[in-house]
Order: sequence, then C-alpha cells, then structure tokens
Amino acid sequence: MRYISTRGGIAPLRFQDAVMMGLARDGGLLLPETLPTVTAGMLDRWQYLPYQYLAKEILSLFIDDIPENDLEDLIERAYASFTHPQVTPMTRQGDVYILELFHGPTLAFKDVALQLLGNLFAYVLERTGGFMNILGATSGDTGSAAIAGVRGKNNINIFILHPHGRTSLIQALQMTTVLDPNVFNMAVRGTFDDAQALVKAIFNDLAFRDRHRLGAVNSINWARVLAQVVYYVYAYLKLRKLGHDSVDFSVPTGNFGDIFAGYVARTLLPRGCIRTLILATNANDILARFVAEGDYSRGQVQATSSPSMDIQIASNFERYLYYLRGEDGNAVGRDMDNFAATGLLDLSACRKQVAEDFRSRSVSEEETLATIGEFYRQYGYLLDPHTAVGVKAALELRDPARPVVCLATAHPAKFGAAVVRAIGSEPPLPPALAGLENRESRCAVLDADLATVRDFVAANALK
Ligand SMILES: *Cc1c(COP(=O)(O)O)cnc(C)c1O
Repeated sequence: MRYISTRGGIAPLRFQDAVMMGLARDGGLLLPETLPTVTAGMLDRWQYLPYQYLAKEILSLFIDDIPENDLEDLIERAYASFTHPQVTPMTRQGDVYILELFHGPTLAFKDVALQLLGNLFAYVLERTGGFMNILGATSGDTGSAAIAGVRGKNNINIFILHPHGRTSLIQALQMTTVLDPNVFNMAVRGTFDDAQALVKAIFNDLAFRDRHRLGAVNSINWARVLAQVVYYVYAYLKLRKLGHDSVDFSVPTGNFGDIFAGYVARTLLPRGCIRTLILATNANDILARFVAEGDYSRGQVQATSSPSMDIQIASNFERYLYYLRGEDGNAVGRDMDNFAATGLLDLSACRKQVAEDFRSRSVSEEETLATIGEFYRQYGYLLDPHTAVGVKAALELRDPARPVVCLATAHPAKFGAAVVRAIGSEPPLPPALAGLENRESRCAVLDADLATVRDFVAANALK
C-alpha cells in the first residue's frame, strides 16, 4: 500500500514515510492510493476478535512495511494503557448505543490514535537512528493526549503550548504534571490563537524546522485516522452478532478527523453495513451547512461547552473533498486555494453525493445541556458535552429500522463545569484525575513572543 497526496504533487510513499511526513510536502493531506475493502467472509472470521487482534487485521490492510510481529507489539503497547479490557466498550442506553472511547490515559478519544502514533514514531526513529522534536499548540485535549502518547519515549522531545490560564484547570494539570524529561509544557500569556500562530510561525521558518526536525501531531497525520477506523468496525461487529446487518453512527465533529475515519470504515465494509454517518456539530456549524446546502464557508468561531469542537476550518475536510472531486488532485488544489483566498467554497453541485454519505445537525448550547440532563435523569448515564451533541443529533436523525451508535469522545469529568450546569452537581472524578492538584508540576510561563518561544524550543530540543 502506497500513500499519495490529495493534491497529487508527491511521489507515492510507504506507510512509515507517510507517518513521518504528516502533512504532504505539496500542502495536501496523505491518503492510501486505493481504499481497501473486506468481504463478508472476513467479517465472519473477525466477529469474535478482541480489540487488539481486530486492530492488527485492519491495520495490516493499510501497512505493508512493518513486520507482522512488530505491528502486533506496537498495537499491544498502545492499548495496554487503556483501563478497560475491551479498549472501546459499548453500552446500550435507551434508543442509542454509546461507544465509549474515553478509557485511555487522558480520558478523551484522542488517546486511541495518539497512543498508537507515539509508539509508531518511536519505532521508526529507533530503526532509522533519527530523532524528532514535536511541537504543537493546544486548547486542551490534543496536547494532553499527545504528551501521554510520547512521554518517556527515546529520540523524541515534545513541546506543547497552551494559553496560560485559559484551559480548564484539569486540562492544564493533565499536561503539566507529566514530569518525564522529554516533555516541555509552555504556557503562553495570550489566547489559543496566539499560541497557534506562534507554532505556525516556527514551522514556517524552514531552516529552524529542518535543523530541529520538528514534527507535528495534529489530526492530519494519516496514522491517527487509521487508528480510529478500528473502533467503527469493532462496534459494527458487535451489532452484527446481535443480528443487525446495517447500522448508523453519530459523530461529534470538529476537525472532521473522527468522522472521516468513519467514512473510511464505511468504504472498507461491504456496502450498506454502515448506512449513514450522522455529522453532529455544536454552534460552529460550517460542516452542518456543508452537508445541508453544499456551503463550505468560514464563520466566526463561537465558544461553547464542547470546546474541542469550536472549529471553523476542519483540517481533515480536504480528505473527503478528494473523493468528492473524483480523486482529482488538481481540482482539490484549486478548491483549497479558493477557500484560502475567499473563505468560501461552493460545493452545492455535490449535494447528492454528500447526502448519500452524511446527515447532519448543528446542536445548540441549550440543547446540549438539556440532553445531558435528560439522559442522566432517564438512564442514570452521564454524557460529556461533546458526546451529548452527537446523542442529540442521533435522537433526531436516527432511523428506527437500524441501531445508531453514538461515539462518546470524552469522560464527563473532563468537562465538569458543563455537567454542573446540566445536572446541578459535579461528576465523580475517575482515578486518573483524582488528586491532580496535589501533584508536582512543571511548566514554563512565557510571553507570546516568537523569539522567546523559539529560543526556548532551541535550548531544549534534542540534537
Ligand atoms: C477532538 C475532539 C472532538 C472532535 O474530533 P475531530 O476529529 O476533530 O472531529 C470531539 N470530542 C472531543 C472530546 C475531542 O477531544
């Protein structure tokens, strides 16, 4: 299996090179040259596999440059950090199934991908004798999951910027209480946008980037998408065992990464196994507008109680666009140039195709909190605000003829303030979060100034 760019401008790559490249050199995103498919016979064989074994079967369809034993070992180590034996267990609550993706070390679904990615980076660097310095900015979830993915690993240092005092306390502590010597937290005096702009400016300094072998862990890395395909198939197989041939998924969406993994799973499985992908957004509704009207145009970012979805430019959207444009890299390049210049993209001509793949719903702040409250009163089950967005969309759009699986992307205790507003009391703290305030922490507080941040990275970078 080789990897190509959505803009058609690079020679095909092996999987390991695709993982290390992250963003394609022509500015596009990497995708497999062809999407593999599986047969009903293969599903019969996979039906009873534990998560890790299923992951190996699926990953093997996309990876042919890592020996089987090594791949098994990488997967085993990635998911050993999850506290549930099924990794991503599923429960039924009333009319919906909830696929719990938050049993990893930082209690959000990003662990599923970043635990694997951290092990993959270390594996490749070990073999090539190289090193890397990971640099990223976070408003909360991604930073802590990325740190948890590479802490203590050889040949990797990680530098994560967060806006000083503007993440939740728990989110900041999940990062700053990690004391491994390869982890560097930087709290910048400014907003998330300031932090993001600093990271971009540093990456755009090509000499600096090459000298320090800077790497990124944002959701455009293909390995992250790939790791997420597994739980769609895992959930589907559980329902298949119960006699359901066809299911829907509801996915709370920000950067289009998780739902794009659903699209890959839908293509992988025999036709009709995954019928509809319900794309759920909060008030930041660019993707819902796209599905309803073909209107992909940038809006103002609004702050909501589901902050990990407060996004108006979905970085993985380009991957889906590639298929919408008939795998024509030139057309994708033109679209993305237009969008960069004007903030507008009219895809109304593709509406029919989009409607085959997705249904969508934008969920308001009031609806999100009401859903948390109603779900708790009816079933005694506590949703985090991101998951609640997906559940609300599922309850509205589901087809009673088929089961619908709602992806639960974070543990409610990570977003305690929203839960308090919804049900009037704090969610119980799981062991991973208990006593965080009393632990030792380490963090550099810096001005939001390019030279200051760049010098800090240069001084602490692996060389
Ligand atoms: C990142 C995140 C999302 C959105 O995932 P995308 O892949 O960006 O669509 C949803 N919920 C939580 C809790 C997240 O951390």
